[in-house]
Order: sequence, then C-alpha cells, then structure tokens
Amino acid sequence: MVRAWWPFWNDDPVTALDTKLQDVYDEVLGRNPGEQEFHQAVREVLESLGPVVSKHPEYVDAAVIHRICEPERQIIFRVPWTDDRGNVQLNRGFRVEFNSALGPYKGGLRFHPSVYLGIVKFLGFEQIFKNSLTGMPIGGGKGGSDFDPKGRSDAEVMRFCQSFMTELHRHIGEYTDVPAGDIGVGGREIGYLFGQYKRITNRYESGVLTGKGLSWGGSLVRTEATGYGTVFFVDEILKTSGQSFDGKAVVVSGSGNVAIYAVEKVHQLGGTVVACSDSAGYIVDEDGIDLELLKDVKEVRRARISEYADARPGARYVAGGSVWDVPCDIALPCATQNEIDEAEAVALIKGGAKVVAEGANMPCTPAAVRAFADAGVVFAPGKAANAGGVATSALEMQQNASRDAWSFEHTEERLAEIMRGIHDRCLTTADEYDVPGNYVAGANIAGFIKVADAMIALGVI
Ligand code: GLU
Repeated sequence: MVRAWWPFWNDDPVTALDTKLQDVYDEVLGRNPGEQEFHQAVREVLESLGPVVSKHPEYVDAAVIHRICEPERQIIFRVPWTDDRGNVQLNRGFRVEFNSALGPYKGGLRFHPSVYLGIVKFLGFEQIFKNSLTGMPIGGGKGGSDFDPKGRSDAEVMRFCQSFMTELHRHIGEYTDVPAGDIGVGGREIGYLFGQYKRITNRYESGVLTGKGLSWGGSLVRTEATGYGTVFFVDEILKTSGQSFDGKAVVVSGSGNVAIYAVEKVHQLGGTVVACSDSAGYIVDEDGIDLELLKDVKEVRRARISEYADARPGARYVAGGSVWDVPCDIALPCATQNEIDEAEAVALIKGGAKVVAEGANMPCTPAAVRAFADAGVVFAPGKAANAGGVATSALEMQQNASRDAWSFEHTEERLAEIMRGIHDRCLTTADEYDVPGNYVAGANIAGFIKVADAMIALGVI
C-alpha cells in the first residue's frame, strides 16, 4: 500500500509499529489522504495495540483492526441558509457514523470554521473507544459543519440549524444515531435542531438528541458533565498516591462549557484555578477564577475573556501568548485539538506540572505526550478523562427511555461512579499488558477490546 504522505506532526522519531499494525496504518494513510488529524488519532491507538495483537492474533485474522479504522457510513451534505441581510449562505455538513458494534452511533456535532472530514473522522474514531470505556451501550459517531456561529444572530443560528437538520433527520434516530453538542453546539443549537427534527418527523422522540433543555427531556448534570468528569478523573489519579486537589494550582485552557465546569469542580474539591484562556489570549487570577464573572462573560455576554480582567481587580489579561507558561501543579487542556505541542509541554514541565488531563479531544500532540512521559508527568488522554460528557448523554438517553428525570445528586453520583470505573479499567488493563501506570495504553486497549469482541461476535458486517 502506498504511503500517501507523512503527516506534519510526525517529523520527529515515533514508536515503531508492529508490522501488521503498520499495514493497517499505511492503508489508512492511503485511503484517507490529507486528513492529518484522523491519521494522528489512528496512529495513537495503533501504537498501543502491539501487545494486544501478539496476545490475540484473532483481531488481526478477522480484520477487526482494519474494519475499525473504516467508518460504517460517511454523510456529507449541503447546508444552504439565509442570513439576516437576505443573502444566501452555504456551508457543508457532515455526519460520520463510525462504529455501531456496542450501540447506536453516539457523539457530538461541532460547528467551527476548521471542520472538514478529517476533523470529523478523528473525533468519530476517538469516540468509539471513549464510548466503549464508559461501559454504556453506545457506538461511536461524530458530525458537524464549517459554519461559524461567532458573530451570528440567534435567528441566523436558528435558520442554519433548521437547514442542517432538514438533511440530518434522515440519518438519525434514537436506535440509529444520537447526536449531541461539541464546540459551537450547546443548548441553544440543540433546541433549534430538536425543534426541526420534531417538526419534520412529527415525533416527540426525546432520545434522538442529547444535551436537551431541562423542560424538554434534558438531564441534570449534562451541561456540567464533561468538565466535572475530567476533574473526577484527576481526583482518582491523585488518590492513587494519597493526594487530593487541596491546595493545588490548576491551569485550564479554554473558557467554553468544558472549561467552565472544570473550574467549578476544581474549586469545589479545594484546588485553585489560576488561569484560563480563549482563542485571543489568557487571564491569570492568582486568587482563583471568579466563576460567576467567567460565566457572565462567556455564557451570558458571549464576550472575549479580556472582559474578565477588565472587571476583576488583581486579574491580568495576556493577549496572544500561551496559557501553559503559567506555573501550575495540574493542567487541564479544555480548548481544542493539538493545542499543546512539545514547546508547551516543556513549558508546563518547567512550571511544575505533575498531572495533565485532557478535557478536550486530543489537545496534546504525540510529541507533547512523549515529553510528559519522559518527565514522569502523569498524562490522562481525552478518551478516558473527558468521557463524562458522553456518559451523561447515555444517562440522558436512559431517562428518556424510561420517561423519568433524575435528581442532580443521583446523576452526579452516577457520573462520579462511571469516571471511577473508567479510571480503574485503564489502570487494570495497563497492568495486564505490562505497561503499569500508562493511562494512554490502558484506555486504548480497554476501549478497543470491548468493541473488537462485539465486532467478532456480530460477524463480518
Ligand atoms: N462532544 C462530546 C464528546 O466529545 C459529547 C458527545 C455526546 O454527548 O454525545 O464526547
């Protein structure tokens, strides 16, 4: 198989792959040219699977690894809509239904100008293993559009969402594919999407989307779940060495939904978040981020994070720059993919970071992950550490199916229990495959084996 090209992030030495896995990787490169992020996500999983294929040749014999790297279905569609000035705008919509061995495709929709097929496929691929790790009956999928909601009015966002759903509705359903939010898609967008689905299908099918509002089928804790889950995961890591968040300085990147609720939970557990960021710059607040102010700036005013520093004495705003230059004990990248490369990793290590956990999907490059490993920094990959969001989506589906609504306390306790389960599964699997303490290998192997066994049981489909 021809190697299409060598991905940009791979120009430093990488772990050699077992020959059978190298064949799979070469085929992925050849079949999916130009999709760097997807290549990166696949390579990262394949690098963990060496010991699995030596122990279980059946996964290679049944072409399970080949099949898992090829989406079951990929949908690309035109999304025309009219802006407030009466001009017709055009975007592209995607839904990649990657793997349904464990349950209906499940995963968010991302609306961001950077979205193209390679991003949706990397996210969908990661989602397979993440969803498997949660222990819930959900397959993996992802979707989105290159639509940029920034600067758009509510009416424009609504018209875009209606047009997007006018095509998407044919492909989804509570037993087929259950989308949710991701970057650029929150409660407002899920509302417009659900409204259009209901109107077109004439069905009040609550379980078709998650992240819904509380009065129309949503679940308590879903908004907070990804950020809370990441912090619960770190709490489990700290407990393994008898520590806690008490007195720890934490840096969080981003200031969207994941970041905001990570800050909230860190503070509840006794840590102090001293910095967070947006795409224009970052703020440092040694007294600890004032969460109400942050929520007001980002959730209510939908403004730039610099307004936080304007309103808060003692806080400072740094335009541009890297939030990872701020010293901390624990770093939670909660913004977007590949935000921490080797240089940022080195800055974090110099600043004293001992634990890094991914609240976003794949925010650390392979070079960054290697730098953390070499420096003895504990690293928790997103497919384990940020699985709380999708796990709580599965709890929302459970409530919808039983026409029930759980209390905040009960739902949060279920989330904490699921994160504990993921954490323990990663460590037990890492031990079993002789890579103790390696959360990346533990997450990839445990996530893979469950899906692979189901795929073998279901036959060649
Ligand atoms: N987009 C989130 C994730 O990356 C949540 C997906 C969901 O709730 O289905 O896992």
